[in-house]
Amino acid sequence: MADPSRLRALDLDALARGAGQVGGRLDPADLPRLWSDLDVSGPPPQAVDWQARLQWRHGTGQSPQLWLDLSARAQLPLTCQRCMAPVVHALEIERSFRFVESEEVAQAEDDDCEEDLLAHQDRFDLLTLIEDELLLSLPLVALHDRCPHPLVSPSPQPDDRVHPFAALAGLKKAD
Ligand SMILES: [Zn+2]
Repeated sequence: MADPSRLRALDLDALARGAGQVGGRLDPADLPRLWSDLDVSGPPPQAVDWQARLQWRHGTGQSPQLWLDLSARAQLPLTCQRCMAPVVHALEIERSFRFVESEEVAQAEDDDCEEDLLAHQDRFDLLTLIEDELLLSLPLVALHDRCPHPLVSPSPQPDDRVHPFAALAGLKKAD
């Protein structure tokens, strides 16, 4: 896997002028914030496939605008909140961003447009953006469709449910 640190300082304009596209595979271990959310007790997490496409787009009567289309695919192990075993979560990201000249413009215009805005930087941190988008795509609560292991404390079945008063009666007898 290529050194991911080069993605922390991507020359946007050079990339847009050149191939316009960059992509690869990222080891989740290189994304510390994502890594801390993963369940690494099982098999090691697989690499994240990602691709970014930079393009100048010409709107009518507008100066050309730089857009970034980001896609990523991953299978990430999370902790099932029912049985506490790892559950693999498959995710696919397709996002488009438009670059504006500064953070101030991004904040001012953000409410008025549907697309997400990013502040243009000479050296853009694509790695952080990819990690942010992966984190946003994780479910709040991870669960197996069907847990593979019996639960630690199985929920009581109707037949062996003890009536609370029966339990009280048992206590009285013990006196
Ligand atoms: Zn489970």
